[in-house]
Amino acid sequence: MTKPTKAELAKYRSLLSHQLAILRGDVGSMRDEALRASEQDASVDHLADQGTDNYDQGFMLGLIENEEETIQMIEEALVRIDGKGDWEFGQCPLCEEANEALKKPKDGKKAKPGKVEKIDSWIPKARLEYLPWARYCIRHQEDEERNRESA
Ligand SMILES: [Zn+2]
Repeated sequence: MTKPTKAELAKYRSLLSHQLAILRGDVGSMRDEALRASEQDASVDHLADQGTDNYDQGFMLGLIENEEETIQMIEEALVRIDGKGDWEFGQCPLCEEANEALKKPKDGKKAKPGKVEKIDSWIPKARLEYLPWARYCIRHQEDEERNRESA
């Protein structure tokens, strides 16, 4: 895998900006709907329906939460495209960390130069086309999700 070219970065930037605009619009209207639903619950006496209403509302708020997380990831990706992020756009920071660790000598022995296989830290283009705000390569993304579930 290779570093994204300037043309590719420009393409990802427009993709991300477009997604951001859509999501920002959606979050607003979804929140309004969820709030309206909760106001109705308070004023209308329909205890029998309340179970399902609360379920729907929770589901909606869950979606909003994910969308806000996605918005944040898109904003971070745009910062990385501008070269002002914590790492380079299109690169997996956890792979880079692993590469740094490889450079350090193990068990007091010096790492033999040229012997150590560097991990390819560039996220595959196919993944970026599908998910331009991806922070990690697929392997590390799965690790992160597993960590999150067990936390
Ligand atoms: Zn990685």
